[in-house]
Amino acid sequence: MRDLSAGPRVLLKRLRELMAEPLEPQERLDRIVRQIASNMVAEVCSVYVLRSDGVLELYATEGLNKEAVHTSQLKMGQGLVGTIAASAQPLNLSDAQAHPAFRYLPETGEEIYHSFLGVPILRAGRTLGVLVVQNKASRNYREDEVEALETTAMVIAEMIATGELKKITRPGLELDLTRAITIDADAYNEGIGLGHVVLHEPRIVVTNLLNEDAEKEVTRLAEALGSLRISIDDMLSRREVSQEGEHREVLETYRMFAYDQGWVRRMEEAIHNGLTAEAAVEKVQSDTKARMMRLTDPYLRERMHDFDDLANRLLRQLTGFSGRAFDEGFPTDAIILARAMGAAELLDYPRASLRGLVLEDGAVTSHVVIVARAMGIPVVGQAAGVVALAENGDAIIIDGDDGQLHLRPVLDLQKAYEEKVRLRARRQEQFKALRDVEPLTKDGKRISLQMNAGLLVDLPQLAESGADGIGLFRTELQFMIASTMPKLEEQESFYRNVIKQAAGRPVTFRTLDIGGDKVVSYFRAQEEENPALGWRAIRLSLDRPGLLRTQLRALLRASAGAELKMMLPMVTEVSEIHAVRELLQKEVQHLSKFGHSLPRKLQFGAMLEVPALMWQLDELMAEVDFVSVGSNDLFQFTMAADRGNARVSDRFDNLGKPFLRILRDIARAGERNKTVVTLCGEMAGKPLSAMALLGVGFRSVSMSPTSIGPVKAMLLGLDIDQLSAELNAALDDIRSSEPIRALLVRFAEANNIPV
Ligand code: PEP
Ligand code: MG
Repeated sequence: MRDLSAGPRVLLKRLRELMAEPLEPQERLDRIVRQIASNMVAEVCSVYVLRSDGVLELYATEGLNKEAVHTSQLKMGQGLVGTIAASAQPLNLSDAQAHPAFRYLPETGEEIYHSFLGVPILRAGRTLGVLVVQNKASRNYREDEVEALETTAMVIAEMIATGELKKITRPGLELDLTRAITIDADAYNEGIGLGHVVLHEPRIVVTNLLNEDAEKEVTRLAEALGSLRISIDDMLSRREVSQEGEHREVLETYRMFAYDQGWVRRMEEAIHNGLTAEAAVEKVQSDTKARMMRLTDPYLRERMHDFDDLANRLLRQLTGFSGRAFDEGFPTDAIILARAMGAAELLDYPRASLRGLVLEDGAVTSHVVIVARAMGIPVVGQAAGVVALAENGDAIIIDGDDGQLHLRPVLDLQKAYEEKVRLRARRQEQFKALRDVEPLTKDGKRISLQMNAGLLVDLPQLAESGADGIGLFRTELQFMIASTMPKLEEQESFYRNVIKQAAGRPVTFRTLDIGGDKVVSYFRAQEEENPALGWRAIRLSLDRPGLLRTQLRALLRASAGAELKMMLPMVTEVSEIHAVRELLQKEVQHLSKFGHSLPRKLQFGAMLEVPALMWQLDELMAEVDFVSVGSNDLFQFTMAADRGNARVSDRFDNLGKPFLRILRDIARAGERNKTVVTLCGEMAGKPLSAMALLGVGFRSVSMSPTSIGPVKAMLLGLDIDQLSAELNAALDDIRSSEPIRALLVRFAEANNIPV
């Protein structure tokens, strides 16, 4: 390794002194460029800063015409300076005028300078400006001079990032760092969130840039790298990391980077140029990121994230920074920004302060999204690059209805959204006022309104919404957010807790519905061509009786002395119900044998989600105490249209004739067999479709808690008999081509029913 280069070290020392002096920003910047020019024996040194309109403006110069400061400007990609900014790469030229991108700016008087060295001013991989030195004589700048200029650029990046330069930015203009940005993302959970950014993994801000003793810093770096490597090797040897699969692949990539000699060499070089170990890590991370950000290959971009994570770990090692940035003063309107995140991590945040969640990756079915939905937080996903563009505390709006996010929004937009939020809140207040109103239709029919749930965070909503009980408790969610299979005791205590918090209102537990889109990482089944039609739900449970028996035992034990209501998902044949009953019987015997007390009463039900059950309705109803229609699945299987694929899922109308006729047949079979029939799919929560359900004979529905108010408001104004007469006539009319949905809308309007 080359010995300490004295030049850059002296320069950095001077810069450190300059940064500490109480100077006006322009004065500080002027002195910085003078210092760099003299140290690098350059006739010119200039700083260009990127503005929010994509223009690079000359902010300070030594050597060029002073009048050009704050007037000379270049667009991103234009001229040598614009090329450096756009590519985030240095340019080192002995004959600048010969470069095809060279652009002559007469106001600067730079035509007499032949050699040119420019480097991007980077922060967290983002380009904030360009730093240039020029000489009259034709020369090639040495590699260590390039390095030194890059290191110096970090100091200027700090000045820009701390907002110091705002004071010398002309009125009406803004620096790029504070630019308002709108990102089109995917809507994962509805609602609007206004608040301030909390980076889930806060960027570690290196404040100690310049070293006193390079050898000491090299040793610190080596030690930190050593611990990092050990921790990765450790993770790789742990049992939970399956032999194959994504997790292992990521760790292998981390290991590869951690041992990469090129990376280590570049960091050591930066230390020898005067940086502290942490500043060296940050510099190399920023350079690498800036280069990789321009890649379009999704595989390589993914590797960039891995590299970034690894560098952050190393920074944490070196700075001892581990906690959240907001240990104190966590904003009361936090919008969490994360690349990806585990469900449990979201639950660690103070619920009352969360206003939204933004994910760079993620899918609508990912666990953290499921949990956020349960918590009623707006979520947008696939928000490309947002983490690098945002700073902790930035104002942000997320629109979970349209899938947009606005970072540092302009005032007008902010106001428009505030108005929207106020309107929503007012409507929610109106619904809240209905909480204790009995759900009786205008013609006196009592409707059972229940809510869907799956996590403990849902439970408070039971009392808040005024629901009669939980019509669907999705037990698989506990399994989906756990990292290992929940044990008998864990399941039992979880169910016990749910029952306790339900405080006497009935809870209908659905046995495990995993498989299909509900993936449990520690239970990897084989790849399937058609997972929705595959080995899932009750099919899987019957083939793994140990799993099902454990769950049945936990449910029985948790409901000792009370009533247990349970139902089976995805039943296709009545024989499946017999099989589960047999297992249940065995569990009951087992528990009594060992002196456990049993539930006072057992209500046993089946979900109707598979069309084949339509031709076994009477047999089914003879077998169970209740039936619950899972309209999400029943509709997807009836229409052969994937519920998760937007191109086909909205193609057919669930208020069309075929599906409403099916639902009417189910309700009629329920009446005939005196079996309670409920519907717990998403359509129960939409006032217009809930109205249709009541029209075809349903008297019990279960939905997300936020829908209880709107559905109750609808039914209070509804005369069911009147609707049924019209609706049945339309469903029986084989000649009419008027869509049933139109009839329903007309009916609601004519009768002043809010839908
Ligand atoms: C359904 O299919 O309608 C249902 C309620 O179950 P899930 O959405 O959990 O599949
Ligand atoms: Mg289902």
